[in-house]
Amino acid sequence: MKEVPNILWLEEIRKEDIPSVGGKGASLGEMASIGLPVPKAFVVTAQAFRRFLVETGIEKKIFASYEKLDVENNEALEKAASGAKNMVLKAKMPAILKDEIRKAYKKMSAEDLIVAVRSSATAEDLPDASFAGQQETYLNIKGESALLTAVQMCWASLYGARAIYYRAKQGFDDHSVNIAVVVQQLVHSEKAGVMFTSHPITGEPLTIIEGSWGLGEAVVSGTVSPDKYIFDQRSQKVMDVLVSNKKVEIIADGDHGTKVVEVTGARQDTRVLSDAEIDKLAMYGKIAEDHYGIPQDVEWSIVGGTIYILQSRPITTIGNRKEVKGMSSVKQSATIILKGQGAAPGIASGRVVIIRDVKDTGSVKAGDILVTRMTNPDMVPAMRKVAAIVTDEGGMTCHAAIVSRELGTPAVVGTKTATHILKTGQMVTVDGEMGLIYEGEIPHAAPAAAATPQQGGAGPAAIITATSVKVNVSIPEAAVRAAATGADGVGLLRIEHLILGLNKTPGWFIANNKEEDFVRELHDGIKIVLDAFPGKPVWVRTLDAPTDEFRNMMGGENEPHEHNPMLGWRGIRRDLQSQDQFRLQVESFKRLWKEGYDNLGIMFPMVSHPDQFVAAKAMMKAFGVDVENVTLGIMIEIPSSAIMIEEFIRCGIKFASFGTNDLVQYTLAIDRNNENVADMYQPQHPAVLHLIHNAIQVCREYNVECSICGQAGSDPKMAMWLVEHGISSISANIDAIAKIRQAVARTEKRIILEAARNRDAE
Ligand code: PEP
Ligand code: MG
Repeated sequence: MKEVPNILWLEEIRKEDIPSVGGKGASLGEMASIGLPVPKAFVVTAQAFRRFLVETGIEKKIFASYEKLDVENNEALEKAASGAKNMVLKAKMPAILKDEIRKAYKKMSAEDLIVAVRSSATAEDLPDASFAGQQETYLNIKGESALLTAVQMCWASLYGARAIYYRAKQGFDDHSVNIAVVVQQLVHSEKAGVMFTSHPITGEPLTIIEGSWGLGEAVVSGTVSPDKYIFDQRSQKVMDVLVSNKKVEIIADGDHGTKVVEVTGARQDTRVLSDAEIDKLAMYGKIAEDHYGIPQDVEWSIVGGTIYILQSRPITTIGNRKEVKGMSSVKQSATIILKGQGAAPGIASGRVVIIRDVKDTGSVKAGDILVTRMTNPDMVPAMRKVAAIVTDEGGMTCHAAIVSRELGTPAVVGTKTATHILKTGQMVTVDGEMGLIYEGEIPHAAPAAAATPQQGGAGPAAIITATSVKVNVSIPEAAVRAAATGADGVGLLRIEHLILGLNKTPGWFIANNKEEDFVRELHDGIKIVLDAFPGKPVWVRTLDAPTDEFRNMMGGENEPHEHNPMLGWRGIRRDLQSQDQFRLQVESFKRLWKEGYDNLGIMFPMVSHPDQFVAAKAMMKAFGVDVENVTLGIMIEIPSSAIMIEEFIRCGIKFASFGTNDLVQYTLAIDRNNENVADMYQPQHPAVLHLIHNAIQVCREYNVECSICGQAGSDPKMAMWLVEHGISSISANIDAIAKIRQAVARTEKRIILEAARNRDAE
């Protein structure tokens, strides 16, 4: 076998060299080999360290010194550690080795270069074992003799108390544990930090970058609360910027070492990274992730506008939900107190107000953070005022999530314990993208770009897609924001939010002879949306409120108690039995048609059999609607309606729209609002995709418009799949329109391109 030299240059190193150069050294070598901007470096190999131990004769002495050590005995551990460390520090480095290190250092630069000297520990038998953070790094080392001392100090750090304890606990044989030392040009960063190339908890394609002034150690060690940037790899856009108050920075101190200094003046609150720098960093991160085939935890640095990649290693937390380094650095300075599902993007700070009953909503003030078990439609007036919403229960398709997204209010749902952990009056910051609640007020930039109307407005609307991209609306006040996205129409207008916002059940209006009020409210609310979308289709869905949502309202006392309201008296099944309730809705539609809104289409929810469509149509006819000349369609929310789509078409539906929020729950038997099973709620489950695929094909065969208005349509990956499978339109949330339009356009172009290539090949 070839003998490993004492020194290896970065360019010579590949990932297979971990036993010689440690994880850090191997990673840097790999990074350099794929063209990432890694500062110049060489590695004093693990074999050099072994030779040092053997040639100085201290190897056996060291191991003997702590052979019988009880690592739980602190005093004994400290004593053994300092004894072993001293042996390494005092031993005279063999002259040949010294010479080689000196020569390599000279080769880096004619003048004495300032370098960072980093430990890179490795175990012969377990080359990928992680010893990260347990051995020392020495920054700002200049000159040969300082370098030689730093190398020896790195070696000695292999015998630090913490490192010995860790290895003993992990069952490593200390005889086979080695240490390499990376000597690398020190980049005197003007700004630096860390980057996760994918979301460290969920694995989503979101690059998360933390950065601050000076050397990156400030971020890694948690000395400073860094800025945080989120870059969405799908849309290739900076999605979120959180500018922190950066009180200190770490800078070089003379020739040896570093110091912490105060950041003064406006620089404290100045944004560290520009969009262009974020783009570039994310691109380097992606290159690293693609090369390694696994998301990376990257350290970066910028000086004079040049980006350097200092380190890259796999993120080990995806899927196992625990804290990781970069996160814990946030944790130290900006403590995460709660986690849930990021349901509506944006970041907001404010005072917590806990609402246990809708009657308490009077205490909610503008700018508060509304914390509750689960929101109800009757809470919407309070939800309008607040800066952010946090719930114990619910998933991405729960009431709180849907309404918050429309209001453009950041929301985190399904935290399980928010109403217990948070206290009224407490100051918190809510990150509705990441699903995190931080303690205290964290300064941040303007609301998430994705939630602003401009995002989906004139710019992105310029992209023309053959597949219509429509928008979902639940509250009329969101109509203008929705229209500003340039959407091709409204694929779902949920009127229950409008009705429930009146705080009286339809039954109350009927029982109290207030039918006209009900019809007028409904008419006026729908009209606002129709006016915002002139000439574009607006599909209004008839009432679909489970009985439990009616309960808190006036008249709610007459609602039946159901074990499973989700499976109960809701949607078209209720309207067919409550003819007056249906009649009043139809009356408002009739007036709108009469006023010339022929872009109004009606969609029936929760249909499970074609007979229900036929019955609803017949009732509308009996109420005086010219049913053959208006647009009537159904939602596909129950597997039976997907399976029987052909029969529905034969009965005259003009369109069908997948309500995947319910279709998923009814196909997989997963309650969509139950946070305990939220991780099993899979819109892309093969069975769901199978139902959707088949129904699309039948609709295509009969030339019937086939759409989607469930939350899954706001996921670009799902949108691509739907376009590939022939869907005619996609209706997404306001905040998702821009990225869905891009995903649709890209998929359509790819399909056209592939067809053209196939033709050419024939
Ligand atoms: C659905 O079920 O996907 C849907 C859009 O309806 P809702 O979320 O209102 O049940
Ligand atoms: Mg539904």
